[in-house]
Amino acid sequence: MLNKRMFYSIIYLGDKMLMSDLEKNIQYLKGVGPAKALLLNKLQIYNIKDLLEYYPRAYEDRTKVSKIKDFENGKNTLFIARVVRDVKIQRIRKNLTILTTFVADDTGECKITFFNQKYIKDKLKENSVYLFYGKTNYEYGRFSVESPQVYNVSDLDKIQGIYPIYNLTQGITQNYLFKLISNLYENKPLLPEIFSDEFREKYKLAEINYAMQNVHFPKTFNSVNIARKRIIFEELFLFQLAIMSIKNNSLGQIKENIFTEVDIAPFLNLLPFKLTNAQKNVVEEIKKDFYSKKIMNRLVQGDVGSGKTIVAAIAMYIAVKNGYQAALMAPTTILANQHFDELSKYFEKLGITTSIITSSTTKKNKELIVQKLKNKEIDIIIGTHSLIEDNIEFANLGLVITDEQHRFGVMQRMKLANKGKAVETLVMTATPIPRTLAIMLYGDLDLSIIDEMPPGRKPVKTYAVGESYENRVNQFIKKQIDEGRQVYVVCPLVEENEELDLKSVEMLYEKYKNEIFKEYSVEYLHGKMKNKEKDEIMNRFKDNKINILISTTVIEVGISVSNATIMVVENADRFGLAQLHQLRGRVGRGNFQSYCILKSNNKSQKSIQRLKIMEKSNSGFDVAEKDLELRGPGDFFGIRQSGMPEFKLANLLTDINVLKQAQMAAKEVISKDRYLKSEENQKLKKVLYSKFKEQLTNITT
Ligand code: ADP
Ligand code: MG
Repeated sequence: MLNKRMFYSIIYLGDKMLMSDLEKNIQYLKGVGPAKALLLNKLQIYNIKDLLEYYPRAYEDRTKVSKIKDFENGKNTLFIARVVRDVKIQRIRKNLTILTTFVADDTGECKITFFNQKYIKDKLKENSVYLFYGKTNYEYGRFSVESPQVYNVSDLDKIQGIYPIYNLTQGITQNYLFKLISNLYENKPLLPEIFSDEFREKYKLAEINYAMQNVHFPKTFNSVNIARKRIIFEELFLFQLAIMSIKNNSLGQIKENIFTEVDIAPFLNLLPFKLTNAQKNVVEEIKKDFYSKKIMNRLVQGDVGSGKTIVAAIAMYIAVKNGYQAALMAPTTILANQHFDELSKYFEKLGITTSIITSSTTKKNKELIVQKLKNKEIDIIIGTHSLIEDNIEFANLGLVITDEQHRFGVMQRMKLANKGKAVETLVMTATPIPRTLAIMLYGDLDLSIIDEMPPGRKPVKTYAVGESYENRVNQFIKKQIDEGRQVYVVCPLVEENEELDLKSVEMLYEKYKNEIFKEYSVEYLHGKMKNKEKDEIMNRFKDNKINILISTTVIEVGISVSNATIMVVENADRFGLAQLHQLRGRVGRGNFQSYCILKSNNKSQKSIQRLKIMEKSNSGFDVAEKDLELRGPGDFFGIRQSGMPEFKLANLLTDINVLKQAQMAAKEVISKDRYLKSEENQKLKKVLYSKFKEQLTNITT
């Protein structure tokens, strides 16, 4: 429940800090200086605002003073006790001295030990009473506490409370951060309130400085919750507002020309296979959008290998037959090339001009393509991020498709769509996105699912193995190659790194080429290579001129070589399960039985448990769900990979309700004041535009 004090700002003792103060380099804050500033930078704290937004990871409950008889094993505990024996000092070896004593209250006795803290002997006087705080340990029938903090009993008032626990880095202690942040709040509220009282009342939001103070230094756990809700709401609300602002730019647009029905038979007749029912259904859903007044905004989700590319191609075919241009954006050059190679051969036969643009396109060629796109001499353009560069313009872009959407930012997709008017968009991904996240990232996106594999596919057999299997795995690889098949080996690193005990592409390449697989053709591939080199290697692999391809995860998305039947992943425990599933999807793309071998030396229970999930399940949906449970959404998507904004406090899985509210609130604000022009929205607008500077620059204001 919000009470008055939480709702209205805490006592104003001085002027609020100006925004510019908040953005002042942390180095100049009292108690910091250049050296500490560098350490704080490691925690992504660069200015005062970052410091304020460096929220505790957890809280420590020091509100209760416990009696010794009520101790619980392994719990941080605050207790008052009398020292009942003299402190004994034992020198174990040169650098290790143990100090031991016993303390008691009226309910029991407890042993206390300190390491190398000789001064304790002078501090702890026999028969005096102190306040202790430390972790209890139950052993040999009694409790002991190791290196507790010791205070005078008169300090109880000061010590008792809820303490924030921050993530730290070497050289920065809990206490240091605590002092730094509490000093900031010593006498004045720092942040301007961006929400009106009315708004806060409606959505039950505490005042911003109340929230800030209570997220760091709460008096009760209830006030932590109230504070967190306010901050989480603001994070989600601003993000929603940013997305809606961008979307709105195209929302107001009316579809002037509804596509007319196109016979897709000429395209289908070129394919060496029949569409699966699932593919047919999705094509129908896309057609429905095309032939209606609504602008298409559709996500196609289908497991790795389910055949999304062809669905995209059919959509492009319809758009082109209606006189529009279509663009297909892929996250890597390798994948863009593959799409181009596969699709241009069909389109060519149908008289449709297809072109490709990536970072390896020469400057001269690029200029030519830019020109042709403007003159509508190109119908379909396939490419990478190069497609969203500012100089790329279209004559009449009608359809935008992003492949492997989880590799792009939401904002990037929107940027491409903004190159046309009332553009239909299709996004494709193999990474199943939980419903809530989909709402968050795509707003009102419609969902199509390809839930069927092309016929004849055999599930990939997956094995999680330890080092001891090395020989057997290598024998198996040889056997498969001798039968004509090909092998991928994926490592976490490109070059050897002394600090990390992980397999690298270069090291493995040397070993395979010169020792283990001498008689075979071994090549490698990694992201640091020139695009041209990468393409060349990939083409040679496709032509079966390479038996074993050692690579980093650059081959993670999309690549399709149906003759490859073994995927070996080194240090598999280092990868997310969703990522492992994508890697596994590189094999089993033809009619041969395929294998995925996950190597790992990590013996931790959790790691083994994770890899077992891969052995048991072949469905991307199951794998993702389980991974989400085990690791949480941040890790699952890999923040950067998902194009997901980095929320400091909000957790998209657990804060669904706040997310819904924030979305509602953002809708309301935008529907009343589309470009945030009104007086009351000025503070909000300023914060929004400073937070999403890059994404919002092109928005009409
Ligand atoms: P993904 O959904 O992972 O992007 P692709 O579109 O790359 O999958 O398709 C995987 C492979 O399956 C490709 O070689 C493609 O030609 C083939 N394929 C797609 N649809 C069918 C189908 N209906 N029948 C047989 N093979 C198909
Ligand atoms: Mg694909």
